Amino acid sequence: MSSNTSNPVFSCEFFPPKTEAGMEKLLVAQKKLQSTVNPEFFSVTFGAGGSTRDRTLETVKQLQTNSANIAPHISCMGSTREQLNNVLDAYIEMDVTRLVALRGDIPEDGSTHSDLANANELVEFIREKTKNHFHIEVAAYPEYHPESASPEDDFKYFLNKVEAGADSAITQYFYNVDAYSRFMEQCARANLDIPVVPGIMPITNYASLTRFSDNCGAEIPRWIRKQLAAYENDPESLRAFGTEVVVNLCACLIKAGAPGLHFYTLNQADATLNIWNQLNS
Ligand code: FAD
Repeated sequence: MSSNTSNPVFSCEFFPPKTEAGMEKLLVAQKKLQSTVNPEFFSVTFGAGGSTRDRTLETVKQLQTNSANIAPHISCMGSTREQLNNVLDAYIEMDVTRLVALRGDIPEDGSTHSDLANANELVEFIREKTKNHFHIEVAAYPEYHPESASPEDDFKYFLNKVEAGADSAITQYFYNVDAYSRFMEQCARANLDIPVVPGIMPITNYASLTRFSDNCGAEIPRWIRKQLAAYENDPESLRAFGTEVVVNLCACLIKAGAPGLHFYTLNQADATLNIWNQLNS
């Protein structure tokens, strides 16, 4: 792989499975990714509400049996300070040393009561309680967060998270390299030099990708959307095209100096491995 960054860091994201069978499959996927990609860490998403929070903890425990560096996501949406304290205590007890700190998505039932309003307050809270125990990742949005009032405000709020103590950032996924380059230029102008690692979403399914992208504000360029729509009933061609698009994106990002890549695996090893193998061929 040609690269301007001497040591790109790779990481892979999972979500907590709902069933035991799902957990077994996830552990197999983790082993496959571990032996090929050998990521710096695996992260595990965190949903609002008690049961999903517990599932994150349980998934972290299970994944730790295969690999030491598991980074849970933690969000303040729908949580009290006491609940967050308990979660942090549990992670310290489990020897977790890296967290992805987020405000979190608004839960489906619409309840938004939280002691902390935004991710910068969560980062501050974690730093106050645990000092430098954790490496803290935060989210970045090269195509802007869907709720943001203006691009300037969105960047200002990103800076707040860094000033609160974030060590590095992972971006929402995107398919426009220019958006990431511009975001990095903004960081340079603000003298901000934490690593901002692009989040990479493999393309395997047209309907779910468009639905998810519309919700999270990631743009699918017209030429990609049109081609995916044309392959809607031809999954093999769709996957081949999707892999080619994402491999090119990854290669461009690494060439442009991205400090690594964070793969949204959706708990499936194969899509990420197809990208990885072509990127390194
Ligand atoms: P924030 O940084 O708090 O920003 C949220 C919005 O508020 C933005 O529009 C921002 O511009 C605005 N804002 C920030 N500060 C202020 C302020 N002081 N005043 C007014 N407005 C402000 N969601 C989950 O539920 N669980 C997960 O595990 C999860 N993992 C993720 C991982 C990554 C890498 C990414 C990119 C996203 C993830 N998400 C997850 C989604 C994320 O929680 C949502 O995008 C959420 O809506 C915003 O979270 P944030 O941490 O970026 O929030």
